[in-house]
Amino acid sequence: MQVDLVVAGAGAGGMAAALIGSLEGLEVLLCEKSGQVGGTSATSAGTLWIPGNTQSRRAGFDDSVDKARLYLERLVESAERRELREAFLASAPAAIDYLESKSEVEFVPAGRHPDYRELPGAAEAGRGLVAKEFDARVLGGDFARVRAPIEEFMLLGGMMVGKPDLPALLGRYRSPANFARSAKLVLRYAADRLKYPRGTRLTMGNALVGRLFYSLRRRGVPILFDAPIEALLREEGRIAGAVVRQGTETITVHARKGVVLATGGYGQNPALRAALMPDPAAAQARSMAHAGNTGDGLSLARGVGAALVSGRSGGLWTPASITRRADGSQGLYPHFLLDRAKPGLIAVNAAGRRFVNEGCSYHDFVEAMFEAHKQVPAIPAWLICTEAFVRAYGLGAIYPGTRSLERFEREGTLVRAGSLEELARRIEVDGAGLAATLKRYNQHAARGEDPDFHKGATVLNRFNGDPSAPHPCLAPIERPPFVAQAVWPADISVSTGLATDADARVLDGAGAPIAGLYACGNDMASIFMGTYPGPGTTLGPALAFGYRAAMHAAR
Ligand SMILES: Cc1cc2nc3c(=O)[nH]c(=O)nc-3n(C[C@H](O)[C@H](O)[C@H](O)COP(=O)(O)OP(=O)(O)OC[C@H]3O[C@@H](n4cnc5c(N)ncnc54)[C@H](O)[C@@H]3O)c2cc1C
Repeated sequence: MQVDLVVAGAGAGGMAAALIGSLEGLEVLLCEKSGQVGGTSATSAGTLWIPGNTQSRRAGFDDSVDKARLYLERLVESAERRELREAFLASAPAAIDYLESKSEVEFVPAGRHPDYRELPGAAEAGRGLVAKEFDARVLGGDFARVRAPIEEFMLLGGMMVGKPDLPALLGRYRSPANFARSAKLVLRYAADRLKYPRGTRLTMGNALVGRLFYSLRRRGVPILFDAPIEALLREEGRIAGAVVRQGTETITVHARKGVVLATGGYGQNPALRAALMPDPAAAQARSMAHAGNTGDGLSLARGVGAALVSGRSGGLWTPASITRRADGSQGLYPHFLLDRAKPGLIAVNAAGRRFVNEGCSYHDFVEAMFEAHKQVPAIPAWLICTEAFVRAYGLGAIYPGTRSLERFEREGTLVRAGSLEELARRIEVDGAGLAATLKRYNQHAARGEDPDFHKGATVLNRFNGDPSAPHPCLAPIERPPFVAQAVWPADISVSTGLATDADARVLDGAGAPIAGLYACGNDMASIFMGTYPGPGTTLGPALAFGYRAAMHAAR
């Protein structure tokens, strides 16, 4: 078989590269290891960090690429791969506009969504985009080919909601408008379930994947399913194709312009984790990546001499609590933004001591866990609050307003106790330490102060806090029953990956491009060198470098 471009991996990075390659006139073959498109992208929140994007500017948000450049300079603190960050800033908005004008992939501003660090050039709004919600009914039978979100992100066993839906759903009895919106969502979902195994109104990462897939189908780009690429063809010093396995068949695909590796990184490969994540606690942490992301792209590229770039801890992280799924299996709930910053919650280590500003970004929270764990066990860390807090704000996968917490206690995902001593005993945290921590925290919280960790001091803290409370992020934790929930580090993405140039061409150990070999998504090392600037840190670059790879191949 002969084509122009082979793309390995049908996540956001690979599908964007394949779609743009096809739009630029290339004959493209997309090979996907599993039976569905989407990878981790489908199960993600789907936010893209795109400084200076047109969509937010049109919606009235003020941002500039110059401000973002300043922010990145301060955040990354290294000149290494600066030219890639420049390429990202130059082409990320263009990639988004290109997709909007030539395909079904459309975006809306994520609205106010602050960057994750208070540094010069940080934005409070305008850099986050999300794919417009997508009506998957247009896919017909192909809907079954779209990987479903994690169970924890669906309501009623299969209904997706986006962040803008939450206020209406949570406050459904507070106003007729909220009730009407909630009822409309549920009725649509009920109608869907007569025909489909889950709701067809896709939001977040599922909307992005659904739109990319629909656009690929409309263009007739061939997609081989259950077809991992297993080898690269090298001819006259360049990568000239790939060997793909489909069932018992081995297909040799010659590619005139080359191969794009977008196999999602190595999150699910324990040996690569041990080799590439310097902290054993990180290497042994759980992964929320798609099960098929076993580092195939990295291994294939290294086999032809590719170099790697290290991204600090090797991963991008979230604290996650364990859930019990309907079928009895364990799941993970990422504590991104709904609970940690709210007033009346702290996180402690095994000594019952705080170690972090609980309202910081999920990535920073876990990096603080790793650091704290070197002195005193902080894996798991315990989120401590009261039952009243859980009812008001929710905790992990327990939604606000949940009437009975008994189910969660029974399944072991929550501990509730009538006194602090009992709580400490049951979670095996030092009781005297926890009592002293709460005494000090409560005294300060009552005055709206946190001299130890400054919870509530940043824009991000307050954004995720409760603006209607006396203090958006601080309240004493004093009225039993007390509640504790364990959180573990989990990667949502890897940051160590293949070295590339600004056109996503994979580089060898001497820094020279390996002709015909490209990488994007998590196969490409994070351009932010393991830091986490803001919402959409991996999907923004995945699309921008998928675009640059395809454009380069087409030139
Ligand atoms: C709960 C959660 C929420 C998240 N939210 C966000 C967010 O809002 N914003 C953000 O930027 N990031 C987010 N992330 C991270 C983001 O989802 C990933 O970094 C991103 O999806 C990676 O995209 P990708 O294209 O590299 O890989 P994937 O989307 O994982 O796709 C890789 C594909 O390659 C396939 N594959 C593997 N090996 C082979 C092979 N040998 N041949 C062919 N195919 C192969 C896999 O089956 C898979 O389908 C989140 C992650 C999680 C878990």
